[in-house]
Amino acid sequence: MADYKGRMAGFRGEKSLGFYLSMLSNSKYLIFHGLRLLYREYYFQMDFFLLCSAFGIVLEVKNMSGELSFEKEQNQATCKRNGNEERIKNPVLQAKLQARKLKNWLREHNCPDFPILYFFINSNDRTIIRTEIRNEQITQHICNSKNLLEKIDQIEKYYKVEKLNKKELNKIKRLLLTNHTPDNPDILKTYHLSPNDIQTGVQCPESCSIPMVYKRGKWNCPKCNAQSNNAHIHAIHDYFLLIKPWITKTEFCQFLHIDSPHIGLKLLKSMNLPITGKFKTQVYHQTTISSSGYEKRIMQR
Ligand SMILES: [Zn+2]
Repeated sequence: MADYKGRMAGFRGEKSLGFYLSMLSNSKYLIFHGLRLLYREYYFQMDFFLLCSAFGIVLEVKNMSGELSFEKEQNQATCKRNGNEERIKNPVLQAKLQARKLKNWLREHNCPDFPILYFFINSNDRTIIRTEIRNEQITQHICNSKNLLEKIDQIEKYYKVEKLNKKELNKIKRLLLTNHTPDNPDILKTYHLSPNDIQTGVQCPESCSIPMVYKRGKWNCPKCNAQSNNAHIHAIHDYFLLIKPWITKTEFCQFLHIDSPHIGLKLLKSMNLPITGKFKTQVYHQTTISSSGYEKRIMQR
C-alpha cells in the first residue's frame, strides 16, 4: 500500500500547488497539468508546464515528508523519515530530464526555440531540505509552493525577450493538447481492488459526502444542503480513471444513482463526450484526465 499512499500524497501536492498557480495571470500564462507526450517510443509526463511568450517552466511536484538531502558528488538524493534513511530518485534531475525531453519534442515538431526552465517543487511545508554548499546546480532548481510565484517574478525579470508571438503560442498549445495521451493506470488491479470497493454516486463539492441526489435539475446534498449543477462531471472522471475510459448510458445512470434513463441521457449528452457505436451499443469516451480526488471513493476495508 506504500505506493498508493505515495500516489495520494502526490495528488494532494499538486492540488495545493494548483491554488498558487491560479494566482498567475491567465492572459499571460498557459498552464498545462499532467501533460503526457510520446517521445521516441516512450511517454513522459509533466506535473505542470507553464508557458508564456518568453519562456516555459516544467514543474515536478512532490509532497514528501521528513528530511530531504541532496549530495553534490553523485547527485544523489535521500529521504529520512522516522529514523530511516532511504535513497530516492533525484527529483531535480527528474525535472531536468522532463524539460530536456520537452525541448527535443518541440524541436521535432518544428516549434520555435525558447528557454525551458525546470523546478522541483516540494509542496509539504514541514519538510526539511538539506543541500551541500556550492551545490547551486541543484539548489537553484528547488522551490516550495509558497515561493513559486516569487521565483516566477524573478524569472520574468531575467527572461524579458519575447520568443513566441500569439500565433506561435496558440500553435504550441494546440500541438500539446492534441498530442496529450492520458494514462489510465489500472488502479484497481494495481492495488488489488475490485469494482465493489469503489463507492458510487456523486460527491458533494462542499462537504465531500457521497451521494448527492438529483432533484429538479440540480444535485442536492442531503448532508449539508449544498446544490450543484455539474457535480456529476467529477464523478464521471473518477469512473474513467477507476473503472474504464468509456461508459454506456446504463452504467452512467447506475454510477450516478439516477433512476430516470431520460434524465441520465440528458446529463450524459451535456458532457459532450466523443461517441462511438450506434443506438443501444453506444459508448461515451473519456476526453481529459482529472485528479479530482478519486481516492475518496476507495472504501476503507
Ligand atoms: Zn454536502
